[in-house]
Amino acid sequence: MDAKALPYKPNPKAPRQVLPVLQPEVRAKSAEEVALGFTADEVTIEAQRCLQCPKPACINACPLHIDVKRFIRRLAEGDAQGAVDVISEQSPFPGVCGRVCQHELFCEDACLIAKKFGPVAIGSLERFAADQARLAQVETTPGAAPQPTGKKVALVGSGPASLIAAFDLVRKNYRVTVFEALHRLGGVLAYGIPNFRLPREILHEEIARLQNMGVEFVTDFIVGKTASLEELFEEGYEAVFIGTGAGLPFLFGIPGENLLGVYTANEFLTRINLMEAYKFPQAVTPVRVGKRTIVVGGGNSAMDAARWAKRFGSESIVLFRRGRAEMRARIEEIEHAEEEGVVFHFLAAPVALYGDEQGNVREMECIRMELGAPDSSGRPAPVPIPGSEFRIPVETVVAAIGQAPNPTLQKVTPQLVTKRGKIVVNEWGETSMAHVYAGGDVVRGGSTVILAMRDGRAAAEAIDKALRETPAPQEQAPEEVRA
Ligand code: FAD
Repeated sequence: MDAKALPYKPNPKAPRQVLPVLQPEVRAKSAEEVALGFTADEVTIEAQRCLQCPKPACINACPLHIDVKRFIRRLAEGDAQGAVDVISEQSPFPGVCGRVCQHELFCEDACLIAKKFGPVAIGSLERFAADQARLAQVETTPGAAPQPTGKKVALVGSGPASLIAAFDLVRKNYRVTVFEALHRLGGVLAYGIPNFRLPREILHEEIARLQNMGVEFVTDFIVGKTASLEELFEEGYEAVFIGTGAGLPFLFGIPGENLLGVYTANEFLTRINLMEAYKFPQAVTPVRVGKRTIVVGGGNSAMDAARWAKRFGSESIVLFRRGRAEMRARIEEIEHAEEEGVVFHFLAAPVALYGDEQGNVREMECIRMELGAPDSSGRPAPVPIPGSEFRIPVETVVAAIGQAPNPTLQKVTPQLVTKRGKIVVNEWGETSMAHVYAGGDVVRGGSTVILAMRDGRAAAEAIDKALRETPAPQEQAPEEVRA
């Protein structure tokens, strides 16, 4: 596109552009990405819906403080590369965040025209900019400065919290190593979120930017087993950030939970996304999806599991104990699931599972709910209605009812203060251990990509401040001189 060729004419009253998507009947049989992205004409209209407010609330509402106003202006002028350059000042992940960030909770929620005309589609614009730069094969991420300080920082886990911390720290000249337990990088972005929402090549390319900047990645390395935190410090790391996520799924705690065909969303999605069970037998890991699948839950994991079940040819039902308004999944995912034929049963929860003689799950007993006073989540609490039990035949059950931090590292590090499994930190991500920081789901217990990144960024800033106050190793005086 010819940079700055188009005049900027704000027009907030133009209808919000609808993101083109693959037809539901096509996508229900494929792992292809569902959203196709805006065309250049749609982008021009959508970008010109932005008022270019003098005090843009969207920038403050973005946990990474991306200069939304400026990147949209570039797009409105036909300069997609310029837009990516603006985003890259704060984040090297526009392709990822343009696809999976819950913009409706942050920047789009703060958009001045939201109430009257519907917010500017900031997420889809970000995605367009990223995709254009990718097509043009222009590398925009600023490289690491040539003079590393010599101080080493270890990041544990390779999810969004650690990835943004790595970006910030390598730009501040630290030698950064990311230790990941799995054989693939990206955390939930790799094992939880399906290809049809986030194509893996986008994730790999954006992580490769960090590698190009000098970040070192070590896979198949479990901190707390392969090496302890103390051993990392002995290896010369001067600060450690723990971004180990919340990979321990909650179980139903009901009779029949151990029957064959009952999965947690974590296992179901890991088999399919990470181990590529949708390619079985070409891939070695299978997944068993029967004629009818019931996915229990109302978050992003539930939508992802239900939509995969549909793609395996199963009748797919989402059972949620509250109402539609209380679902925590991205609105777009709920709508896409509905278009693909996923059926929603609200105000009901499972109480028992029944199997056949071979131990396969065959029936789910549920109880109906009504909504009561708000609970600790701020949403109306589901209250069981006595005597309202009913049964549904089922062959596959997926529990997508939440998750807690994996306790591996915390168990062998009792000095780390935790509360209900979550690592306790202050606003800078400092834990109870000196020079050990934490953020993302291991602190929040299941949140969003952008809030995990916010935490990673805050911790990187705190690490930098702390390490700047201590001299670099080569600057330290030898032991005898200091004595
Ligand atoms: P994670 O992404 O969980 O990454 C943690 C990493 O640490 C993992 O790779 C893990 O293997 C590794 N690890 C764990 N223990 C160790 C150890 N001891 N040593 C080394 N490595 C370790 N949010 C959104 O905003 N939008 C969405 O669309 C969305 N969809 C989601 C779909 C699913 C299925 C799920 C489960 C969550 C979704 N979320 C979504 C939430 C979001 O993905 C998480 O909030 C976010 O990924 C948390 O980032 P994190 O870096 O804290 O941890």
